[in-house]
Amino acid sequence: MAELIMIQGGTAVFDSGTRQVDLIIRDGVIAEIGERLSVPAGAEVLNAEQAWVGPGFVDLHAHLREPGGEAAETVASGAAAGVKGGYSALVAMPNTVPAIDSVPVAAHVLDLGRRSMLDVVPAGAITIDRAGERSAPMGELAALGLTFFTDDGMGVQRAGVMRRAMLYAKGLRLTLAQHCEDESLAGGGCMNASALSSRLGLAGRPAIAEEAMVARDLLLAEHTGASLHLLHLSTARSLEMVKAAKARGIAVTAEVAPHHFTLTEACCEGYDPLFKVHPPLRGASDVQALAQGLRMREIDAVATDHAPHAPETKDRPFDEATPGMLGLETAFGLTLEALGGDDADPVLLFELLSRNPARIAKLTAGDERRHGLSAHGGDLSVGSDANLVVVDPSTSWVVDRNQLASLARNTPYDGRTIRGRIRHTVVAGSLVLNDGEFTR
Ligand SMILES: [Zn+2]
Repeated sequence: MAELIMIQGGTAVFDSGTRQVDLIIRDGVIAEIGERLSVPAGAEVLNAEQAWVGPGFVDLHAHLREPGGEAAETVASGAAAGVKGGYSALVAMPNTVPAIDSVPVAAHVLDLGRRSMLDVVPAGAITIDRAGERSAPMGELAALGLTFFTDDGMGVQRAGVMRRAMLYAKGLRLTLAQHCEDESLAGGGCMNASALSSRLGLAGRPAIAEEAMVARDLLLAEHTGASLHLLHLSTARSLEMVKAAKARGIAVTAEVAPHHFTLTEACCEGYDPLFKVHPPLRGASDVQALAQGLRMREIDAVATDHAPHAPETKDRPFDEATPGMLGLETAFGLTLEALGGDDADPVLLFELLSRNPARIAKLTAGDERRHGLSAHGGDLSVGSDANLVVVDPSTSWVVDRNQLASLARNTPYDGRTIRGRIRHTVVAGSLVLNDGEFTR
């Protein structure tokens, strides 16, 4: 639809730095960028004063639960949560029921995405039913435009299966994304393995369970030359290994989730299942190392691991509750805080939340046509697809679990004051969030 929009008075965040400019959006693309532009007749004017204007956020890691888990979330509700969080595109994780391991299921999720408020691209499963045995038909799924494959929820446990998948993925120019936890080390655990887990009498998932798989997969990536993405890293040691691997020229990227750089294992002390997640919340030194890694550009992306759950599975004793927490509506403010709040570098913030994840998901200009979607995460330039967000870094708000757009309520941040508010979200040239409110 042909909307005419003017974004006025904001600080535009380009790849190279910031500038005070106005933007005019027409026919789905950025039509003009300049200082004090005159308002075109009939334009919807968006106030961007005191705000940053940048490319819409891209989440590499959203569990949208459809098909099969519609009581917790649907593609439509997850997309709405994304728009409220400043996202213009989401990668939908394939641990649905059935899993996204076949063309009909992938085509169904793509179709649901087309009818949602933002761009949704499914990740494909690496193995059939995510069972870690037989390879999924990655070639057929790639023909639909899928480029990102993972068995997330579970890592691929057997090295031989992962190696074969990497060889296959390399030939097709696909990226394999791994949930790094060796279940022979982590299985049965429900929080970080530590003095605290012993005191609480809860079985632990040790750091080594993650680090052993990170080490293994970095070796396999080097050996095969495949492109590897490491999901939700949670320890300092994992980061160190990624840094060393990059220095060796291994094709690896890594993400961290906001809960891993904002919450420590101490949150589990009250046995509240809202704080149960895999990999688990770690100790303070790991949490600090991840926040530091973001600031030092050692981590490529912030990804939410948005994991909605219905109360029937989440409101249970800690060791029985299903792992995972919501993330889409709180990620921006938490990332801003980790980058230094008032002192945060907006260029770095947009790298972590938009530019790098768009590149990793192959959603940038040139690649995005594979999916029939618009381009995300590019530099602000005339003629580029208008996927944009206007964020106010100085306004605070209080998280209220009952006010979320997600169907689920399992946020660990209920009642927390978060600085940094999403003001407007524009997806493919259409205004979908205006001053924090949905337009439709
Ligand atoms: Zn995972």
